[in-house]
Amino acid sequence: MKKVMLIILDGLGDRPHPYLKHLTPLQAAEIPNMDYMASKGILGMQYPIAPGVPPGSDTGHLSLFGYDLERDYPGRGIFEALGEGIELDEGVAFRANFATVSERGEELIVEDRRAGRISGHDAEALASTISGMSLLDGDVEAEFVHTLEHRGFLILRGRQLSSQVTDVDPHEEGYPVLEPLPMVADERAERTARALKEFLARSYVLLRDHEINRRRMNEDKPPANFVLPRGASEPIEIERFGDRWGFKPAAVAAGPMYKGIARALGFEVYQPEGATGLPDSNFRGKIKEALNLLDYFDFVYVHMKGTDVASHRMDPSLKVKVLERIDLALEDLIDPPEDLLVVITGDHATPCTIGKHSGDPVPVMFYGSGLPRDDSTNFHELDASMGGAGWFSGKDMMKLILNYSNRSLEYGLRPLPKRTWYIPRREDLTPLRI
Ligand code: ZN
Ligand code: ZN
Repeated sequence: MKKVMLIILDGLGDRPHPYLKHLTPLQAAEIPNMDYMASKGILGMQYPIAPGVPPGSDTGHLSLFGYDLERDYPGRGIFEALGEGIELDEGVAFRANFATVSERGEELIVEDRRAGRISGHDAEALASTISGMSLLDGDVEAEFVHTLEHRGFLILRGRQLSSQVTDVDPHEEGYPVLEPLPMVADERAERTARALKEFLARSYVLLRDHEINRRRMNEDKPPANFVLPRGASEPIEIERFGDRWGFKPAAVAAGPMYKGIARALGFEVYQPEGATGLPDSNFRGKIKEALNLLDYFDFVYVHMKGTDVASHRMDPSLKVKVLERIDLALEDLIDPPEDLLVVITGDHATPCTIGKHSGDPVPVMFYGSGLPRDDSTNFHELDASMGGAGWFSGKDMMKLILNYSNRSLEYGLRPLPKRTWYIPRREDLTPLRI
């Protein structure tokens, strides 16, 4: 049985770009290490969720980790909150922005969804002004946590709340702030909508008249006089990755959401020095850390965000540079330990031509000793589309990983009370005692 290192290059998949002579960034980049691994390994193409469906980074990851999005997806807020170290047992978490609104009749119009990218002390002070509010006659407590720049979380703590409420954020400037509405006819969703409405009305009064905002207006800066919650999310029971797939897992990641997903699934999370979640991240440090962790864990997930950041900036030459820097870091994997399966793929495509996630397939590479071979010579979309691992759904990624790490259980065998896909570890089994 092999150990596994799964490297996810965020937003890896791409399309031909005129600026790169109609090559994709993977084709245009000088990536001798990835090309060498492709020539010795086996390539394929995967649709992280389904053909044509653009994944979010959270849903793309969950699907690749073998979870059913219809059942196991709590919404993005919980993962982001966990990544920031915020735990929620009972209640609802929303992502939220400080924003600037103006009054037009009885409506509030969103003038700036980021309140001039307010940050630092101003944002911190305003957050504490509206945090700790007690709602619905004391049944619900609102906590507002500021994170980066204009962003934060609104947490409603209490019983009988639900994530089935609509976004208050209209996601467009010049549009009115939206009333939070229950999405299903149930008491919990209605209570949540009422609590949220009370929070919005009371926090608007506190923010509008706050001295920081008066000062900002004197300085011709947009006041942060409203918060726009979106993406309601509530804690759900998700089976731990280790129990689901028979691994002892660790994660090497820097971005809060990725750390949050890993924590929610029961990975031990590590962030080496210099790992930033940006194009300048310490990629080599991440690979070295992952190699060290393999002494204690048998599954290490490594996340690198820089590729996706370059794509969102619609900057194909930056994506090429990021890929080339990542390739240098992969030097340490060229000659991997005999018992290691290396898997490289992305959580979705982010074509630089459109600057957002798409439903395109994503190249994947399996590398290690004793694998089947194909005749690919380079790691890019074209070779991957003709690779020996074929085209498959991201939902099946973990089954292929079990297969290529020689951990798959033959279909039909039943050593455990639940359906398993992996050969159980000694500690999973219940011996007969006589
Ligand atoms: Zn992503
Ligand atoms: Zn993205």
